[in-house]
Amino acid sequence: MFDDLNDLYQQVILDHCKKPRNFHEMPQATCSAQGHNPLCGDQLKLFLAMDGDTIKDASFVGSGCCISKASASLLTAFAKGKTKADVEKMFTQVHDMVMTGKFTGDVGKLAVFAGVHKYPARVKCAILAWHAVMGALKGDAGSVTTESEQI
Ligand code: ZN
Repeated sequence: MFDDLNDLYQQVILDHCKKPRNFHEMPQATCSAQGHNPLCGDQLKLFLAMDGDTIKDASFVGSGCCISKASASLLTAFAKGKTKADVEKMFTQVHDMVMTGKFTGDVGKLAVFAGVHKYPARVKCAILAWHAVMGALKGDAGSVTTESEQI
């Protein structure tokens, strides 16, 4: 289904989809947010354990397509030990990347989603977890939906 995606990138996405990292509830979370992408049916809940502005731990639960799960898996792996500002900056870079396919900075492993810009319906799947983490960081305990965002 992703003929144009680099094979290596595709393998990373499939690996994180089949074996999502940090895929569990977090009773000790200090904030959380739900994400919903009605277009595809992706639903996830993201948990963060904050210590001041630093993310000590991150996890998620939910169901959805491969792209949304892999994105949440890579996001939670990235977020651990990062600050709120780090995540906000990366959100912008990942958002630009999945919209345009161009890089505006070093996104590390998250580069695997660059090819997603060729599949407009999939952009929302890739960015869903990022909207959820931004919602959680804002202390917005409600749910975020990709439909309310101009993405
Ligand atoms: Zn999806």
